[in-house]
Amino acid sequence: MENCLFCKIVKGDIPSTKVYEDELVLAFRDIAPMAPTHILVIPKNHIGSVAEVNAENASVVAHIFTVIPKIAEAEGLVHGYRVVSNCGSDGGQTVHHLHFHILGGKKLSTEMA
Ligand code: 5GP
Ligand code: ZN
Repeated sequence: MENCLFCKIVKGDIPSTKVYEDELVLAFRDIAPMAPTHILVIPKNHIGSVAEVNAENASVVAHIFTVIPKIAEAEGLVHGYRVVSNCGSDGGQTVHHLHFHILGGKKLSTEMA
C-alpha cells in the first residue's frame, strides 16, 4: 500500500523505535504515547483494520497475540496492560493499517467508550 504510513514504517522509509520484529510482525513505540508504555503491534503485510480480518489472514492476528505477552513481559508490565484496536471512524481509527495498541505502565482509566 503506497500511501500507508505503517507500510512505510515496515519498509523503513519512515523511522520508528522498534521493540520487536519477526518475519510477520513489527512492534514500535507510539509517537504520541498515551501511557508510560504505548506500543503498536502491526502485521507487516497490509490489512486495513479489524474489519478486514478474515479466514485467509487471521493467522497473523493469532501470531500477534502470541507476541503481545512477550512484549509486555519485556516491558515489565507485571501489573497488566490494555490491548486496543480502533476500527473505522466511529472506533477512532486514524491509521488505516491494522494495529494493536499495548498500553500500560500505570493504572489505566476504566472508561472504555
Ligand atoms: P489509531 O488512532 O489509528 O488507533 O492509532 C494510530 C496511532 O499511530 C496513534 O496512537 C498515533 O499516535 C500513532 N502514530 C501516528 N503516526 C505515527 C508515526 O509516524 N510513528 C509512530 N511511531 N506512531 C504514529
Ligand atoms: Zn499498510
